[in-house]
Amino acid sequence: MTDTTTLEQPTPSATAILDHWVGGAPWAGTGDRTGPVYDPARGVVQKEVRFATTEDVDHVVSVSSAAAAEWKNASIAKRQQVMFAFRELVNQRKDELAAILTSEHGKVISDAHGEIARGLEVVEFACGLGHLTKGAYSENVSTGIDVYTLRQPLGVVGIISPFNFPAMVPMWFFAIALAAGNAVVLKPSEKDPTAANWMAERLTEAGLPDGVLNVVHGDKVAVDALLEHPEVRAISFVGSTPIARYVYETGTRHGKRVQALGGAKNHMLVLPDADLDLAADAAVNAGFGSAGERCMAISVVLAVDAVADALVEKISARMATLRTGDGTRGTDMGPVITAAHRDKVSSYVDVAAGDGADVVVDGRGIEVDGDPNGFWVGPTLIDKVPTSSAAYRDEIFGPVLSVVRVDGYEEGLELINSGAFGNGTAIFTNDGGAARRFQHEVQVGMIGVNVPIPVPVAYHSFGGWKASLFGDAKAYGPHGFDFFTQEKAVTSRWLDPSHGGINLGFPQHS
Ligand code: NAD
Repeated sequence: MTDTTTLEQPTPSATAILDHWVGGAPWAGTGDRTGPVYDPARGVVQKEVRFATTEDVDHVVSVSSAAAAEWKNASIAKRQQVMFAFRELVNQRKDELAAILTSEHGKVISDAHGEIARGLEVVEFACGLGHLTKGAYSENVSTGIDVYTLRQPLGVVGIISPFNFPAMVPMWFFAIALAAGNAVVLKPSEKDPTAANWMAERLTEAGLPDGVLNVVHGDKVAVDALLEHPEVRAISFVGSTPIARYVYETGTRHGKRVQALGGAKNHMLVLPDADLDLAADAAVNAGFGSAGERCMAISVVLAVDAVADALVEKISARMATLRTGDGTRGTDMGPVITAAHRDKVSSYVDVAAGDGADVVVDGRGIEVDGDPNGFWVGPTLIDKVPTSSAAYRDEIFGPVLSVVRVDGYEEGLELINSGAFGNGTAIFTNDGGAARRFQHEVQVGMIGVNVPIPVPVAYHSFGGWKASLFGDAKAYGPHGFDFFTQEKAVTSRWLDPSHGGINLGFPQHS
């Protein structure tokens, strides 16, 4: 275990406080700032989390650098074995992790299990990462000379993650970064930070050497310290667009590789020949799952006029069956993350109504199965939302589904392509030609054809276009491996007396 006793520790407090995780053990750091971690289904603070100082981050990076120097020399087999063991441990104890996610984020237990499964998918991909390390080899590029490529880890990499997937998003990045031989400093969201420590502990049990993955908690102070630290070689960020842009600009200015995934406003285009029951199911599942707090949530249904009334009726009928409440009680939808976010989400319904939209199903002030003090907004459907309204343009990130009526494919496509974001989209149709045209013409990074949440599997890569992704590397899959490694090209010649002699000219082939 790393010696952390040289830095001064604050006086212990009676309140439950979540420490950082450094050198294979909890670490209090040196600062005295903390932040509240709520139980959003009850509206109460359940613990505090430490906020790192710049000096704390310096210390964590130095622990990580020392560990990275060893870990890069661990064999591929060893690194993959750690990932296998981590996968087994998480699977054995996934109920514990799901309970943590529900208690701090609020998502219902079944959804928490879905998050864990999609995160583990990337861990499973990392178990076979050796496959991607093979490089290229060209024999005899010139007489007796071979050229080949190696991919090597970067060193210390930083991961800064959002509140909405406290387990999956860290797994997207750390599984591949670690399997590729890097050390990781993870700065999770301060709103639901416990999952990060839980996973770090499982990695230690899985045989990851101390210091190879460290968790540092905090806010902008910790993020800025990571962005500016010269030994942090790369940053993987996921969060809102303004912060993603800031992280990208600041990190690259400090000489780092940065992939910064931002916000979204995902549209689903429903053509008249679509299966309307399938489309209505999809709109409800993708609009209200996780209380709409998913970057791949559908927030706008573009309904072609000919079927719009029927579709709105089918969606609202399904919404009447949804139970909102405490995620541990078998409900369909939990609370949103904070009281402030609840108020912000509700205010967008006011805005839409003020701009002339029809509030078909109103989730403001809903009665719930659970504590009345929780941060509740019920499923909300707003029809005929004007595209000039902020409720249409902004990312609401809550259980509010807008319907915009369009006269056909062209108008729908034009709306999608003129938006600021380009994360995900979907088309619902039984016309293969229309679907094929859509995938070709739409300016969005991830596209579903009769699939509402087209999150690519782990061996492809995840990422949007425009204000949904800054940088040129998507998350996980082959992009993830390339992002966390750097290539060397080796030109080699083994001793051959016929190739000796002096020649100061630029090397040419013979
Ligand atoms: P956020 O931008 O508020 O926070 C993300 C991270 O940045 C957190 O770790 C937070 O501590 C840190 N942070 C916040 N403010 C900062 C500041 N001023 N300076 C430096 N760091 C700061 O995002 P969030 O509310 O946690 O997450 C929701 C957002 O994330 C939504 O916009 C959602 O669309 C987006 N998201 C995108 C994807 C994607 O793949 N594109 C996936 C999940 C979430």
